[in-house]
Amino acid sequence: MKLTRFKHGDVVYRGVIKDDEVAVVEGEFWADFNVTDTVFSLKDVKIMPATVPSKIVCIGLNYRQHIQEIGMKELEAAHFFLKPPTCLIGHEDVIVRPKHAERVDYEGEMALVIKKPMKDVPEKDALSYVLGYSCFNDVTERALVTKSLSYLTEAKGYDTFGAIGPHVETDLEPDHLDIKTYLNGIVKQEDNTSSCLFTVSKVLFAISRCMTLLPGDIVATGTPKGVSPMKAGDVVEVEIQGIGRLKNYVK
Ligand code: MG
Repeated sequence: MKLTRFKHGDVVYRGVIKDDEVAVVEGEFWADFNVTDTVFSLKDVKIMPATVPSKIVCIGLNYRQHIQEIGMKELEAAHFFLKPPTCLIGHEDVIVRPKHAERVDYEGEMALVIKKPMKDVPEKDALSYVLGYSCFNDVTERALVTKSLSYLTEAKGYDTFGAIGPHVETDLEPDHLDIKTYLNGIVKQEDNTSSCLFTVSKVLFAISRCMTLLPGDIVATGTPKGVSPMKAGDVVEVEIQGIGRLKNYVK
């Protein structure tokens, strides 16, 4: 099932996408929800992020070749950091480069959305806490983090620096999916989630022994090698097998 939020006129709905239409949903995605007979054509609606998270947790240093390209070392356990929920944008929204930024990179990633409160959950049970999976762009001011990791929160936290979409796919096995990032139609990142040092289950175990993950929270699982800067006018897309392609414009 492809879950989304969307706007028709001034009204925001939750919905289930099928082909080129979206059916309105009553209730929360993480409760017993009801798919109604009210249907809109996708061309008449504005797709929005499927969730309004309390937090966005990002895994860093999960693909070996990316760790090498940024000159870092592999860690023994999954490393994570927070992006503020205010950075979140959706499919076909605009990533805004701050005027003073030196180098703003895309980071194509697979993300997941949590469906029930999660604390101290063992690896073997972790996937049952996931609502579904989506494409994510962990936009990063690379010049800042390269100067010092003390700038990580700023480098990752600007408004519009977290793109998710085009929807959340519920029926998916997450650990063997092709992932690609395109800049202006040219493939820049190409890998498979099986290359991750830490599986989705390991990542959720590591995070949930620290903080409670709540329904709707987003966890992004790290980026493959091939990060590079974006400039105004660029179009960036993150595509994941079995999900679809998230598209954003840069200004
Ligand atoms: Mg990242």
